Amino acid sequence: MLPALDLATVFLTNSLIAGVTALVLTVLRRNQPGIDGIGYWAAGQGAYAIGFLLLYLSMTDAFQPTALPGFFFSFAGALFTSLGFHRFLDLPRRAVRAAAGAFLAALLLLPLLSLTGRTGLIVAATTAILGSSAALNAWILLRNGKGQLRPAALTLAAQHGCWALFALARLIFIAVNGFDRPAAISTLVPAMLMATVMLTCHALGLVWLVVGRLQEHLVVQAATDPLTGALNRRALLTRLDQERARAARDGIGFALATFDLDHFKLLNDTHGHAVGDATLVGVVETARRLLRPQDAVARLGGEEFCLLLPGVTGDDALALTERIRAEVANLSIDSPAGPVDVAASFGVAWYGTHGQDWSALLKAADGALYCAKRLGRNQVVAAA
Ligand code: GH3
Ligand code: MG
Ligand code: MG
Repeated sequence: MLPALDLATVFLTNSLIAGVTALVLTVLRRNQPGIDGIGYWAAGQGAYAIGFLLLYLSMTDAFQPTALPGFFFSFAGALFTSLGFHRFLDLPRRAVRAAAGAFLAALLLLPLLSLTGRTGLIVAATTAILGSSAALNAWILLRNGKGQLRPAALTLAAQHGCWALFALARLIFIAVNGFDRPAAISTLVPAMLMATVMLTCHALGLVWLVVGRLQEHLVVQAATDPLTGALNRRALLTRLDQERARAARDGIGFALATFDLDHFKLLNDTHGHAVGDATLVGVVETARRLLRPQDAVARLGGEEFCLLLPGVTGDDALALTERIRAEVANLSIDSPAGPVDVAASFGVAWYGTHGQDWSALLKAADGALYCAKRLGRNQVVAAA
């Protein structure tokens, strides 16, 4: 016969796992201040660690009354874990308030139940509360863990789903046995063993989520200009290669428009570098507002930008570029000395007529841009 598992050891093991996880998450939070939610997870694991420790102590005669606070701390652990998912995934505050409200209600319910002195009811209520919070987490992760976060979010959702199903089975078992004490107590060892597995996998899952978020940041950083958020040259070239392949395959052309802000050095010298920076940001925002979802705006350097316009050539490309020029010319940037006017000159070239590859198209568009500057600036010129 196999030796029986001893509940006290499992409680203590769980407390240690949660404690170590809390420490790891605390360090992670310090290292990654830009990622929301890690602090809540750390607090949640800390609460679990204290909760399991109190439950462990409650098994001795001297510390028996620590059982109820032990349950409270595990609820707090579940609450903070949920709040962590909400913050990490940037979900509406409304949902956060609802979750916190439900947990407060649960906290009030437990002392009431303990007045009845029926252990079966208390264990069932605890199981129901922790199980529904796991189900809620599984749902949140499934719905909101997208992109680079997907693998970690799915794994964590599966874990929370398992925990919720396990809680349901446990609840049914306790109910079928008329909420009597021995039946409820007999579910504790399998439940706490399950908690050991869950705590371990959960810690890995949380770290995996953070890695996913860092990967997301890296992908964005590798492709964009930090000041304006426009694509950088590398990302533009990748997009251009895709458009070239599409043009060669389906015969759908694209246009390339380069533009350069007019008298930007004067603007910088007159109003200062900060106003210059705000102007660059404002111009990219303006272009973005008018561009279609398939278009791209990239910063080639300094105050020079490039628009990639798939599916348009000739007059269509010129018309789209002209709308952007007009809107940039309408833009005024706030400065301490009052609003500052902006303008830019544009050169437009398109696939086929002016070449097929990056260097030919850029050369043609730049030639046209130079021409626009010579003709008096603040205008759009088509490549020769
Ligand atoms: P033109 O109309 O002929 O284009 O004249 P310009 O003054 O715009 O052109 P010039 O090339 O002489 O000046 C470009 C200026 O852009 C000089 C440089 O200080 C400024 N600049 C480049 N990058 C940045 C930036 O990131 N922030 C700010 N504020 N200024 C920048
Ligand atoms: Mg300029
Ligand atoms: Mg320039």
